[in-house]
Amino acid sequence: MAKIIIIGNSPSGFSVCRALVKNPTGHEITVVSRESGPAYKRDLLFEYFAGKLTEKELFLCNDDFYKQNKINLLKDREVLRVDTKKQKVILKDNLKLDYNFLVIASGEEVSLSDVPGKNKEGVFRFYSLKDVKKIKQLVGLSQVVGVIGEALACQKITEIVLAKKKEVKIVSKPRPEAFFDIEHAEWIEKFDLAEIIGEGNEIKALKLSNGKALGVDLVIAAGNYIPYSDFLKNSGVQTDNGYIVVDSLMRTNIENIFACGRVCKQGVVREANWSAQTIVNAINNGELSCQRL
Ligand SMILES: Cc1cc2nc3c(=O)[nH]c(=O)nc-3n(C[C@H](O)[C@H](O)[C@H](O)COP(=O)(O)OP(=O)(O)OC[C@H]3O[C@@H](n4cnc5c(N)ncnc54)[C@H](O)[C@@H]3O)c2cc1C
Repeated sequence: MAKIIIIGNSPSGFSVCRALVKNPTGHEITVVSRESGPAYKRDLLFEYFAGKLTEKELFLCNDDFYKQNKINLLKDREVLRVDTKKQKVILKDNLKLDYNFLVIASGEEVSLSDVPGKNKEGVFRFYSLKDVKKIKQLVGLSQVVGVIGEALACQKITEIVLAKKKEVKIVSKPRPEAFFDIEHAEWIEKFDLAEIIGEGNEIKALKLSNGKALGVDLVIAAGNYIPYSDFLKNSGVQTDNGYIVVDSLMRTNIENIFACGRVCKQGVVREANWSAQTIVNAINNGELSCQRL
């Protein structure tokens, strides 16, 4: 029996889970995720934000899936480090988990480059259900919402916020051709974002590169995704610009570590079910070598 740890509980990590439990082999499976609930479809978050879908409609399985399949789901937990020599995953609360096989499906995050003020409490990345829930709540209390990041994602968010009868200031380029001047929405593409101004969780303005400040009381950042793999620093797992390098069978440069989904180097991102089955076959076929580890 092998100890398998999966980092990530989104489409890719969940596909590995599902493929593992389809033909149970008695492996001990642990899933570590920064999210608070079962796996969900991230691409439907726009519809959820718009109020067209409920939270329940996003989920890929119900809460019981993990218990029924004897999967140890560690929610709201963050992997800080991987010790590939001792075969341990170290969590933020210093919990150390042993593994025989590690599957990394840690996906992406929204990048805000080096804009001063980007880590203020009132700046939200539109990526996780947890954050979108908070955004939904705060938009209701806001007067003017600042939207920054990748143009198409900004456009989608702007349309939803406008439907909630709020004013929007967008700093992004290039402005999509399909975006017309609309009352209550100002799109700035001529100047860059120089700073997000505010104190604590109170956001006051978006300062532009021409010195002008646009008053906003909430900032939503969207798009511009980058791989989430900082926790692999000094682990020996090979990355390229943050993307994990894998071969055609989703194997990293370390024998018992696999990776799948968006955290992998672009050229080899495969369909989630294919990647999952490939990894599971490798793990099951590698049972003997795992006992030697
Ligand atoms: C609103 C929105 C719409 C999108 N629409 C599309 C679309 O239409 N088509 C498309 O192809 N893509 C879309 N994307 C991109 C989307 O993120 C990916 O397609 C998909 O979610 C990637 O799946 P993944 O499983 O590889 O990674 P992710 O979905 O990013 O999941 C990563 C998982 O790893 C966990 N994790 C990461 N780091 C750690 C850590 N250190 N410790 C513990 N857990 C960790 C996270 O909690 C999460 O569970 C969209 C993204 C967003 C935000």
